[in-house]
Amino acid sequence: METKVVRLGEGNKDEEVLREAGEILKAGGLVAFPTETVYGLGGDALNPSSSKKIYAAKGRPSDNPLIVHLYRTEDLFQVAREVPERALRLAEAFWPGPLTMILPKSDLVPKETTGGLDTVAVRLPSHPAARKMIEYAGGFVAAPSANLSGRPSPTTAKYVVEDMNGRIEMILDDGEVGIGLESTIVDLTVSPPQILRPGFITGEMLTEVLGQVENDATLFSTGSGQAPRAPGMKYRHYAPKGDLTIVQGDKDQVVAFVNQKVLKARAEGKRTGVIAASDTAFRYEGDVIKTIGDRRDEEVIARRLYTILREFDDEEVDLMFSESFGDESGEHGGLGQAIMNRLLKAAGHQVIKV
Ligand code: AMP
Ligand code: MG
Repeated sequence: METKVVRLGEGNKDEEVLREAGEILKAGGLVAFPTETVYGLGGDALNPSSSKKIYAAKGRPSDNPLIVHLYRTEDLFQVAREVPERALRLAEAFWPGPLTMILPKSDLVPKETTGGLDTVAVRLPSHPAARKMIEYAGGFVAAPSANLSGRPSPTTAKYVVEDMNGRIEMILDDGEVGIGLESTIVDLTVSPPQILRPGFITGEMLTEVLGQVENDATLFSTGSGQAPRAPGMKYRHYAPKGDLTIVQGDKDQVVAFVNQKVLKARAEGKRTGVIAASDTAFRYEGDVIKTIGDRRDEEVIARRLYTILREFDDEEVDLMFSESFGDESGEHGGLGQAIMNRLLKAAGHQVIKV
């Protein structure tokens, strides 16, 4: 299949392009599009054959449900069988924006879209082009992240092209996304509501609106013995091709430990990489050193993380070490929880404490 790649924001053609994207979606085709979190791979959420095509294009297991994207809040009543008052309060506070809610699904949404579940994940993105496209598509666009299954979510159209060229009808290129990590997912079918995936909308922000919110027990550890409740969280995800280990501890000791490992690996003919904050990056010996930013600036770290993981793949690094960023324990909250959750998943939960 020939994939049409169109750059947004050039001249006055966006309206026309978004209309065309909407038509492709209505006809059962797939379009990758920018959102404020990461690039999404869209199909008509109400068309079972579109959802099947999404799974095929990504190589994604079909029990891993998709998020249904809306362009206006009132459509929540179309896709959810029940809309609890707390869902409306969350929508009021955080929509349009990077928050996904899990609700009981209505009959309108096919099981192909929800991976066979009776619940549906719903979000209203704030990205203006995304919303326009969803409106032109008829209002309901199922979209997971626009990467091949197992690869880091794309934060720029270049990576979407890398993974999806030839597999889908169209890619809308709007440069780099703003947030860089996927939406927060909160399950409203349980009491108290549970965070199934941390993101830019933090536990503290949700607690302010809902009173009480819990973290799913599997977010920061693999040792809980429980299966993750967001099916997608059980798959190896955001994974670079090489082997990644997170090293935690006193700064000087982390540098010394990593450098010793790097020199040993180099002696064995391996290519090494390090992810470090700007204050320590210059002290590492690795072949490829990635400076992720000031360790206090979590928004920058969040935006850079997936790009760095992809760059390591491009540079064919075999062995990688990362400093720890954000919230190591998952107890401090903030955007740091989302960063650490993704970093742990990318590292397959390999952590060394020095
Ligand atoms: P992605 O769009 O690639 O970020 O993946 C969507 C995420 O939402 C996956 O981790 C899914 O498992 C999760 N998800 C979607 N629908 C549901 C649902 N009904 N219940 C729980 N998790 C869901
Ligand atoms: Mg994804």
